[in-house]
Amino acid sequence: MNDFEIETLAIRAGYDQTAEQENSEAIFPTSSFRYHSAAQAAARFSGEEKGNVYSRFTNPTVRAFENRLALMEGGEACVGTASGMAAILSTFMALCQSDDHVVCSQSVFGTTKVLFTKYLAKFGLQVTFVSQTDIGQWQDAVQPNTKAFFLETPSNPLTEIADLAAISALAKQHDCWLIVDNCFCTPVLQRPLEQGADIVIHSATKFLDGQGRGIGGAVVGSLELVDEHVRGFMRTAGPSMSPFNAWIFLKGLETLPVRMAAHCQNALLLAQWLSEHPAVEQVYYPGLVTHPQYALACVQQSAGGGLVSFKIKGDRAAAWSVIDDTQMLSITANLGDVKTSITHPATTTHVRVEPEARLKAGITENLVRVSVGLEAIEDIKKDLARGLDKLI
Ligand SMILES: *Cc1c(COP(=O)(O)O)cnc(C)c1O
Repeated sequence: MNDFEIETLAIRAGYDQTAEQENSEAIFPTSSFRYHSAAQAAARFSGEEKGNVYSRFTNPTVRAFENRLALMEGGEACVGTASGMAAILSTFMALCQSDDHVVCSQSVFGTTKVLFTKYLAKFGLQVTFVSQTDIGQWQDAVQPNTKAFFLETPSNPLTEIADLAAISALAKQHDCWLIVDNCFCTPVLQRPLEQGADIVIHSATKFLDGQGRGIGGAVVGSLELVDEHVRGFMRTAGPSMSPFNAWIFLKGLETLPVRMAAHCQNALLLAQWLSEHPAVEQVYYPGLVTHPQYALACVQQSAGGGLVSFKIKGDRAAAWSVIDDTQMLSITANLGDVKTSITHPATTTHVRVEPEARLKAGITENLVRVSVGLEAIEDIKKDLARGLDKLI
């Protein structure tokens, strides 16, 4: 399938039709697999014969999702996981050990920071947080025991762009892996492996599903790192993706290219409208020419993405009133859904980050994040105008 475009891969790749000749992919809700003989069972367990053993480590529906996402990201292998966080945990448990060091963008998902500082730290993994956009800080943070760099771009919620070419060059120079959480762009807008990353992480919960139906994650990369090491951890520790969820994500991938195009189109229109609204202090969206890294965004991603954040002229009360005055938008921290969602990062997604670190990352009390869905853009604007217009 390597010759096909991403739109075709999204619909056709990764699945082998069964003897039933179904057109839509089947779900295999089975925990284990049955063998023709004791000898075949032995061959499967020893790895002598390729094939399924137990759904904690391989399942046909999960494999179809993994194969399809691997091809879309341009990776050799993919491992599906129970959640995006399980994907990050599995990657570091598989690849790092105590006294290893990670350089991580300070602008990553709040829970990712907690995972590093509260849990992985218990096992001796050291982490240094640096600016997403200052390559000098990445350089200065490197130690002899640095094993990996970790980032997500654009960042949540301020849409800062990490320079993948520069950071991957630095990682190579120091013999480190670059691990990129590609949740916001998806392979439709940005393919980090082609830009020098070694591993791509996904929360399938977000755009890959696209309709807010399930929790899942994925790790994509080389056969050695992902199929051997990460899958090895996964089959032993067990944060596996369920076949039902894999089927939802597999079908979600089919419409990912058209959905991403529509998310980006609505998000750009909303960002432009917000920029002109008198109650808005600042808008954060990489597709706006006024974004400080617009030129870099144009180089490494094909569009601005579906997330728009903005600071209101006012305090927390003003931000909350804009959120509470909406009638259609979903007040929820989830993102990447066809339903537009709105949230107050300082008191939701980033509440577990220390107040000082939160401010350092620019998550102020007047900041609101919108994950722009696929409703009519006029209706989304009208819903936000209800609260914004009162503040003028
Ligand atoms: C949501 C999210 C995660 C975690 O994914 P879950 O599926 O909720 O575990 C990781 N990274 C980013 C950027 C996210 O938005």
